[in-house]
Amino acid sequence: MQPPKRQPRVLLKLSGEQFAGDREYGVDPEFVNRLAQELAETIEATGVQLTIVVGGGNIMRGASVAKSGIERATGDYMGMLATVINGIALVDILEQNGVSARAQTRLRVDSVAEPYIRRRAIRHLEKGRVVVIAGGTGNPYVTSDTAAVSAGLELECDMVLKATKVDGVYDKDPHKHPEAKKFSTLSFNQVLTDPHIKVMDNAAISLAMDNHLPIVVFDLLTHGNIRRVIKGEAVGTKVE
Ligand code: UDP
Repeated sequence: MQPPKRQPRVLLKLSGEQFAGDREYGVDPEFVNRLAQELAETIEATGVQLTIVVGGGNIMRGASVAKSGIERATGDYMGMLATVINGIALVDILEQNGVSARAQTRLRVDSVAEPYIRRRAIRHLEKGRVVVIAGGTGNPYVTSDTAAVSAGLELECDMVLKATKVDGVYDKDPHKHPEAKKFSTLSFNQVLTDPHIKVMDNAAISLAMDNHLPIVVFDLLTHGNIRRVIKGEAVGTKVE
């Protein structure tokens, strides 16, 4: 007998810039609310099991902090704490939109989030809760992109969705160069070797490549986009 087919399960990576909206810094609750509505509709329409890894670049980045004289590792922990700020904001706003959600972190902040426990995260997903993972990998010198690919593998997600404000990966910045060409697909090798192509940092890309986990880069706020990606339609740029 064939085992029952499980619901689609995806890992969505939200960078700090998704939380800032049009602001330079911090969290724009209105913008996050739009995003939560899009996710609520998507879950309703597709039954997808959703894990979200959040970045923190809208508040703090270790590399920039290090330039101001604070030790790099300390700056990175500051950055990881920034991801926790975004994570708990997202859980709050998701729940206001009728989506049951839990925050888990790899960095210990017990007063605001559960510790990351793989089997517990899977149980939440099976119960239809969104799992928001903050605190990065818990280790300095890497980014939330690596945390996203690593969680995507651990939680057996079908793909990693990298939300951006443009509708995929271009050969040049499409805001500055109107003639820029969009890629519908890319190989991991192209992403690793072409310095003009920016999807995620190389550590994250290598991890995805070694373990055959596809990454789709797309514009989350174009209405219906995430639903189409989950249904396997060609949206944005697929790296595989
Ligand atoms: N960070 C880290 N380890 C991790 C994830 C994040 O040290 O596993 C720190 C790092 O300093 C980074 C900051 O947290 O600059 C914010 O995360 P990231 O830059 O990945 O956020 P995003 O670019 O996705 O907004």
